[in-house]
Amino acid sequence: MTAPSQEPHVVLAPGDRLLEVRDLTVEFRTTHGVVNAVNGVSFSLDRGETLAILGESGSGKSVSAQALMGLIDTPPGFITDGQILFHGEDLLANRHLQRQIRGRAITMIFQDALSALNPVYTVGWQIGEQLRVHRKMSRKATRARVIELMELVKIPNAAARVDDFPHQFSGGMRQRAMIAMALALDPEILIADEPTTALDVTVQAQVMELLDDLRRELGMALILITHDLGVVTEVAHRVAVMYAGRIVEQGDVNSVFKNPAHPYTEGLMKSIPRVTDKGHRLVPITGAPPSLSRIPSGCPFHPRCPYKRPDTCVEERPLLRSVLPGRLTACHFAEEVLS
Ligand code: SF4
Repeated sequence: MTAPSQEPHVVLAPGDRLLEVRDLTVEFRTTHGVVNAVNGVSFSLDRGETLAILGESGSGKSVSAQALMGLIDTPPGFITDGQILFHGEDLLANRHLQRQIRGRAITMIFQDALSALNPVYTVGWQIGEQLRVHRKMSRKATRARVIELMELVKIPNAAARVDDFPHQFSGGMRQRAMIAMALALDPEILIADEPTTALDVTVQAQVMELLDDLRRELGMALILITHDLGVVTEVAHRVAVMYAGRIVEQGDVNSVFKNPAHPYTEGLMKSIPRVTDKGHRLVPITGAPPSLSRIPSGCPFHPRCPYKRPDTCVEERPLLRSVLPGRLTACHFAEEVLS
């Protein structure tokens, strides 16, 4: 794991709050019962910052992102509560506005660039589609802008490669092409869902560096959905740790990872290798994440928690509360974990 970013936290100016998600609740009604995928998730995002949403598979992080984008298929998915305020406007109360914003002011890239690109169209044609449809740009102007976008995401020899097909691009180059596509309409927020999972380690680092450079250059905000702690420490300013469809800890990345206040975050930190910990044994978190259709009573982490007190933890659900300046944690005994 590399050293955390030393960039100071973004200083807010009035009007810099782009997004405010409040009590977002999403469930899927299936023939096997109700899956409570997201349970009262709240977070905010400011212009120019990177928020990482960290969690194991099935923690609700990707469903939260899909809800932001209006990509929850109903049925079986239902957003049963909450608000998604973009510049103060609730997108859940104004689906027309959400459709207007999707793919323009808020865009998303996914982990599997190969299946996201259409194999029968050139990469350049696909990057330019948004420009032709939404900006009504001419063929010539679109081509010039596509080459600019390909250069922006550092695809070498962009003018020559604009007519290549996806299979002529490597995995890393395809992900760059997806990023170029996402940037075509000058988004204010880019959501990257596990953007480097399908790539090898060297290319992962290059793509993360690219996303961080683009955020800085273009003044966008980035939401990074990931299970990878290394990725979070490299580029994120703040982190929201999710477990069983809830945020269990939220705060400044350096502070959360240096001094976790939730046993789950602490467990994640102990279970990853670090170059400074030579000779130390890794301690995995025991057990497995719960099924979202059978979330445990009280604190959902209690079956796996070394700090559990049966009377309190099994019966009372801990609420997200302030335990340090700028830090929220959902644990009855956060002060004990901190100490
Ligand atoms: Fe562990 Fe209890 Fe805290 Fe949950 S509330 S994380 S079970 S100590």
